[in-house]
Amino acid sequence: MPGKRSVRQLDVANRRVLVRVDFNVPVDGDGRIADDTRMRAALDTINYLREEKARVILISHFGRPQGRVVEELRLGAVAGRLSELLGHPVVYVPSLDWPTVAKSLAGLAPGGVALLENIRFHPGEETNDPGLAAHLAGLGDAFVNDAFGAAHRAHASTTGIARLLPSASGMLMEKELEVLGRALKAPERPLVTIIGGAKVADKIGVLENLMTIADALLVGGGMANTFFLAQGLEVGTSLIEPAKVPLVKTLLARAAELGRRLVLPMDVVVAREKATGSVTRVVPIHAIPKGWAALDIGPSTREEFARLAASAGTVIWNGPMGVFELEPFAAGTEAVARAVAACPGTTIVGGGDSVAALEQYGLAGKIRHISTGGGAALEFLEGRQLPGVAALDDAGEGTV
Ligand code: ADP
Ligand code: MG
Repeated sequence: MPGKRSVRQLDVANRRVLVRVDFNVPVDGDGRIADDTRMRAALDTINYLREEKARVILISHFGRPQGRVVEELRLGAVAGRLSELLGHPVVYVPSLDWPTVAKSLAGLAPGGVALLENIRFHPGEETNDPGLAAHLAGLGDAFVNDAFGAAHRAHASTTGIARLLPSASGMLMEKELEVLGRALKAPERPLVTIIGGAKVADKIGVLENLMTIADALLVGGGMANTFFLAQGLEVGTSLIEPAKVPLVKTLLARAAELGRRLVLPMDVVVAREKATGSVTRVVPIHAIPKGWAALDIGPSTREEFARLAASAGTVIWNGPMGVFELEPFAAGTEAVARAVAACPGTTIVGGGDSVAALEQYGLAGKIRHISTGGGAALEFLEGRQLPGVAALDDAGEGTV
């Protein structure tokens, strides 16, 4: 894929620059922002544009309003937090009426920042409606996409608008693509990938692609159960995806064919109930009792996974090793988190739950790169082109 134009190669002084950001932040029960990591990750691009005297107009989605106005999903609180983070007032534009929006933006000075209302309030966003893209494009002179977390979506504010204005990638987008791209194309070896979490369906594509690249592919968490099932083992009441068994069988056969190291758990922590007070047992994977569920990797697996992770040149980790939200099933995820954090090589972690686990153990600061894009990172690791990136102008066309 050719490189994309960087925001640094855009002539932005005095111009109105539309910036797609991913401010889809988690909120607590009272609607307060629980974690502003994604907002902080966009500050480099915003501050750069402000210093270059651009008029910055931010566009973001928030939650899943499905083309309607949902009061709890307005971006007022996000605009407030952004003002604090920037130390500069942000003009919040709550209207969806285009003439009103244009009027609110008319007074925006060079170096000023505005935030449009949740773009998913418009029914045309997720359908990539050309009319919506044209309205957005009409508000600016150039477009910057810094929303890596939304780059796997072909929406009006990601791809539609990119085709209508001179476009470039933002600094967060560049960093994500650079780090993940190098891990796939020229990793420091050995490259060890650790994939866990609940759903095979979400991650089978990643396994397929990484299998051809990685020196070792470690599979844990709920996903591993479907692998046990495919091998004809008793899985008790474990979470499984029977429909994925044929796919998993193909994957296992390919790994053997290619001589790839696909490492499955050798022991698991089982319980009758997925609950904090459950009685647990450690069993080898061929001895999961009927009526019991595998809810974490066992101590021998922990040791093996941790050993492989610690000695890697590059580690990519996505997906917890067990039901880490509950104390009796957290040891596997914690052991992997600690080993990844201690690895002196390049360490990359993606996925909302995996990052939450790192934060829970106070290890987030020890990771080289924490991806801001769950789904987008997975699709990138599958080897797929992200539409939000593909739509941007290529580099090498000078400054525009
Ligand atoms: P991420 O957000 O890091 O990509 P996922 O969303 O794929 O991770 O998976 C996280 C979820 O997987 C967690 O809620 C965790 O409880 C669940 N999980 C992990 N292992 C198991 C298991 N053995 N059985 C059931 N659920 C599991
Ligand atoms: Mg998740």
